[in-house]
Amino acid sequence: MVHPEHQRRAYLQAMGIDIWLPRDAAEQESESPNQHPAEAVHAPADELDWSELRACVAACVRCELSQSRTNTVFGVGNPDADWMIIGEAPGAEEDRRGEPFVGRAGKLLDQMLFAIGHSRDSVFIANILKCRPPDNRDPKPDETAACRDYLERQIALIKPKIILAVGRIAAQTLLASDEPVGRMRGRQHDLDGIPLVVTYHPAYLLRSPSQKRKSWSDLCLATRLAAEAIT
Ligand code: URA
Repeated sequence: MVHPEHQRRAYLQAMGIDIWLPRDAAEQESESPNQHPAEAVHAPADELDWSELRACVAACVRCELSQSRTNTVFGVGNPDADWMIIGEAPGAEEDRRGEPFVGRAGKLLDQMLFAIGHSRDSVFIANILKCRPPDNRDPKPDETAACRDYLERQIALIKPKIILAVGRIAAQTLLASDEPVGRMRGRQHDLDGIPLVVTYHPAYLLRSPSQKRKSWSDLCLATRLAAEAIT
């Protein structure tokens, strides 16, 4: 359970508001590192509500990516969505704007969603990592582990009817598998009772447009599973 004072400070920190402490308290704090406000962002996310979670992510210093990021990328869309789209990690443009999938791959993702009657406002789009790995390298295991409960809490609060995992990192991380995407796509998986479909990452589809046909069939499968879950 997050201490309320630590929670308050995480909010203030996330909003960019300086925290002033009486000199005595400040000295005491610097002598007791266990009470540092950063403790709040190390606290488990599993009891936080949506806005607390957003504030914790914004103030997160759980891994070294917090040193190099410009913005955390919490996710975008409808927190009550039936569909959740999960990608890998923010890229340069996403880091700059604090929003997932806003580059070229994002435009293609928007088109894919449009083709099945959705928009980025009707679904919720998130990533395995909330911060950009430098030079767009793959996430390291300790970064994925540090970020995991934020995504788990988002899934628990949204309660999507269907999860679409786009790309290798998202699929392998969520399903704890090392199978290639080509073998995971095209069928139904299960993530703690939620149907999950794997498809190619839009960045890959930009490089290999001939695979778009398979991705379309994955989207159709996901649409069918979502409809079954809703009725
Ligand atoms: N690729 C991803 O996986 N996520 C983003 O947000 C952007 C690019």
